Amino acid sequence: PAAGFGVHVRPRFRETWGFPVLVVLGAALATAAAVRWRLRALERRRRELEALVSERTAQLAEANRELERLASEDGLTRLANKRTFESSYSDEFRRTVRNAAPLSVVMLDVDFFKRYNDRHGHLAGDECLRAVASVLRERVRRAGDLAARYGGEEFVIVLANTDIDGARLVAEQVRQAVETLGLPHGAAEVAPHVTSSLGVASCVPRIGDDPAALVAAADTQLYRAKAAGRNRVCAREERDR
Ligand code: GH3
Ligand code: MG
Ligand code: MG
Repeated sequence: PAAGFGVHVRPRFRETWGFPVLVVLGAALATAAAVRWRLRALERRRRELEALVSERTAQLAEANRELERLASEDGLTRLANKRTFESSYSDEFRRTVRNAAPLSVVMLDVDFFKRYNDRHGHLAGDECLRAVASVLRERVRRAGDLAARYGGEEFVIVLANTDIDGARLVAEQVRQAVETLGLPHGAAEVAPHVTSSLGVASCVPRIGDDPAALVAAADTQLYRAKAAGRNRVCAREERDR
């Protein structure tokens, strides 16, 4: 009888069923980890790009605001420029027609300003215009009101819902405030300091009225103020045109 041994060889681990399972599992885990890592990296990159885009968008919006400001303001005085005056004024005029309210325009012109420049120099002239502008900024600040540099040493004020008496008062306050600046003027005939002349015109705009006519009327009053000796306010209400 043959005697036999029962030899039982323990399989190596590589040969057990557990091995391929472990390999597959390991590979799956590694793949999952790699995918997650990659997704996170992509997400990080997406956030970075998003932040960059919103930063650039904000910069662009800021640059646009700055451009708009530069285009609407006068560079020397930082008041509204003539272009802004033209559009705001015609808007205001149309609004006033609808409301049947009074509207006033004040034109201001610095007296003997050419001589001021000649005597004190253009830099002092520019400083003077800035000072006059700061007076306007201080005095003209009700909602709907607008102060603008019309050109050269001329300024314009639009006073919404303001009749001739109210506008004359504002103009007189501005005239006094310009005098009170006390800027020495060595060549003016009216005073030893800088003065200004103002023309005021007021109306209750009606449909079909020309906005430019009220500005022209204020200009006529300004001319009268100059002719009457300067450093004064002349005003006129426009009716039954
Ligand atoms: P009037 O009293 O009749 O108004 O006399 P005026 O000399 O003020 O008037 P005119 O219109 O003859 O002169 C205006 C002067 O304003 C001419 C120019 O030398 C000066 N001017 C205009 N714009 C500027 C500016 O931006 N800066 C400076 N420094 N001067 C300016
Ligand atoms: Mg002038
Ligand atoms: Mg002048």
